[in-house]
Amino acid sequence: MAPVTENGPYDYDLIVIGGGSAGLACAKEAVACGARVVCLDYVKPTPLGTKWGVGGTCVNVGCIPKKLMHQASLLGEAVHEAAAYGWNVNEKIKPDWNKLVSSVQNHIKSVNWVTRVDLRDKKVEYINGLGSFLDPHTMTIKMKSGDRKITSQTFVIAVGGRPRYPDIPGAVEYGITSDDLFSLNREPGKTLVVGAGYIGLECAGFLKGLGYEPTVMVRSIVLRGFDQQMAGLVADSMEERGIPFLYQYVPLSVEKLSSGKLLVKYEHSQSGEVRSDTFDTVLWAIGRKGLVDDLNLANAGVHTFKDKIQVDSYEATNVPNIYAVGDIIYGKPELTPVAVLAGRLLARRLYGESTQRMDYTDVATTVFTPLEYACVGLSEEDAVKEFGADEIEVFHGYYKPTEFFIPQKSVRHCYLKAVAERHGEQRVYGLHYLGPVAGEVIQGFAAALKSGLTIKTLMNTVGIHPTTAEEFTRLNITKRSGLDPTPASCCS
Ligand code: FAD
Ligand code: NDP
Repeated sequence: MAPVTENGPYDYDLIVIGGGSAGLACAKEAVACGARVVCLDYVKPTPLGTKWGVGGTCVNVGCIPKKLMHQASLLGEAVHEAAAYGWNVNEKIKPDWNKLVSSVQNHIKSVNWVTRVDLRDKKVEYINGLGSFLDPHTMTIKMKSGDRKITSQTFVIAVGGRPRYPDIPGAVEYGITSDDLFSLNREPGKTLVVGAGYIGLECAGFLKGLGYEPTVMVRSIVLRGFDQQMAGLVADSMEERGIPFLYQYVPLSVEKLSSGKLLVKYEHSQSGEVRSDTFDTVLWAIGRKGLVDDLNLANAGVHTFKDKIQVDSYEATNVPNIYAVGDIIYGKPELTPVAVLAGRLLARRLYGESTQRMDYTDVATTVFTPLEYACVGLSEEDAVKEFGADEIEVFHGYYKPTEFFIPQKSVRHCYLKAVAERHGEQRVYGLHYLGPVAGEVIQGFAAALKSGLTIKTLMNTVGIHPTTAEEFTRLNITKRSGLDPTPASCCS
């Protein structure tokens, strides 16, 4: 039995394991509701030795550095466009990788600092240590200063995940992951990006924009889980920008040559044909593994499933006083705003008056490729699977962003569609947009979709001209009609 403290038999009401988006949101909200909380966070260095501060993946090695590098690459494109708009710019513009990395890292350090101050102001106790369970109410924390044992009534596991490495020779010794890329102390150069999910495509996209030579290796399909027509257009738009895609190939080995270059052997998954090529960098973007191993969950009796934790609709695990939120939970979107909202709502249910549960449906998301793709709701194939092809109407169209005309940027892949009910109210089930500032375009429409948006409402919405978001209000051609979805005019 733990010693009796002023908080009952336990040291804390709540121990939150993981100081990322989910854990911090949960810990801060729980304290605001009056609970005595400690939040643990510990980052194990990558095989290359990269490590970072409090705040988790999003701030340190995820959304934030990714968006900054994406922006850096878009700015390079914009400088070239500026010449067409009449700016006198030096033709030989070139990015300085080290300067970019140092600007990005400085921003991250400032966010780490603000996070620490915020935790102190909000009276959330923070421990920089690795937590593992001794029993359902006790945890040991490994810290620089030695081990410490603490007890708590309740636990929230918010440990997130880390990138996987493939099980092939040379993968760990010579490859890097997104955990290393944003602080890499040399130019990436010619880069093999293995994996065609969010991370692979986004990294390949900004590397190309920054003047490097990425190649994307695709094991099966691009952007699994997304609308495959849109995924195909994303890949086409990247290939049009000069990024080669190696379809149906898997890596076999990575070897370091005396020149310092990396020799990669890879195999066609159907024909068995083996090829090889040399690269300066090999980036693994083959998915992420939940960080369950260090937690010693068996000591607490918490079950795991495929390196993740299964929870019910209250984020409860199979052990009554232990919950899990964020990327560590199985089968839910691995996105920062999902982690934050789920963490906050859990704290309010545990320590406030609230009964509100997290709604994981219709979560909007953006893939920050050079031409961005954002969507909310169902893909066309999922809508067809759920309701049947006869019950689905797809309104679609290509469009021409006004700002693309003068620099003569390609409009070939600027496309959008609304997947809707065919009859009755024509409720919109999904919206998909490929084009500039996709996240900004879809965010507001996501609120509309969640509020029961119909095709009629969409068509009765007056657009803001000239924007690309207004194209959603101009959709009037259905796929079923077979009519040409390319625009004739822009202003009438
Ligand atoms: P994390 O943020 O990973 O936090 C978990 C923390 O717990 C980590 O600091 C970890 O080191 C620590 N920890 C683990 N085990 C222990 C332990 N035993 N004891 C103590 N501490 C421990 N999402 C978006 O919404 N938009 C984007 O644009 C986007 N871009 C991304 C780009 C990249 C390259 C990556 C990798 C991810 C991106 N994501 C994006 C996903 C987003 O970063 C995650 O969904 C989010 O960070 C998950 O938060 P979390 O709190 O669950 O986990
Ligand atoms: P994903 O699971 O999205 O993609 C993994 C990719 O790697 C797939 O193309 C997969 O192919 C391929 N792959 C898996 N194993 C192997 C292997 N052994 N050899 C070769 N290829 C392989 O993971 P990511 O790492 O890209 O992203 C993780 C999560 O992070 C995302 O799901 C997302 O939620 C989040 N994220 C969000 C972002 C955003 O909001 N903009 C940006 C980045 C990440 P296959 O399809 O054949 O399995």
